[in-house]
Amino acid sequence: MPVRLIIDALDFARNAGAHHGKIALSEFERLQDYLTDNDGELQYAVTGTLNREARPVLQIVVQGSINLQCQRCLGQIGHALDLQTDLLLAQNENELSSLDEDESVDCILATSDMDALALIEDEIILSLPISPRHGENECLVDNIHSNDAAGEKPLFAALAALKNLH
Ligand SMILES: [Zn+2]
Repeated sequence: MPVRLIIDALDFARNAGAHHGKIALSEFERLQDYLTDNDGELQYAVTGTLNREARPVLQIVVQGSINLQCQRCLGQIGHALDLQTDLLLAQNENELSSLDEDESVDCILATSDMDALALIEDEIILSLPISPRHGENECLVDNIHSNDAAGEKPLFAALAALKNLH
């Protein structure tokens, strides 16, 4: 059974709800596409609160480490997650569209059966680099290339030697 954490979002925020725990990486179905392995777990916290304008907010915190795949060599890159996001809860579609005009806030439509772990997974995926790559000299592709360059020299030397025979 997949782990689910269903909350009534507005209720949760107004009553200062709080939930935290650990979740295995293997529970995040959509995240798997980005990972080279799903060993280990992440720490998460979901907290309900009201912001300065007394609007309901869900605060999401995620910490842990995952292994992403380098888009050049397909090797593994260790990636630390340390996220904290405030999601403003809109109470209806109208409010959602007017709040969404402010680009400095992330706004979602509140429902009474919100899947908090799906929200956490969304935030993780949004935070990931679009095209993860190793740093210079850490990528396997660079190492293969430098080996090739070294391997070419004896071949040129052999060709040169061959030419000299004629
Ligand atoms: Zn690489």
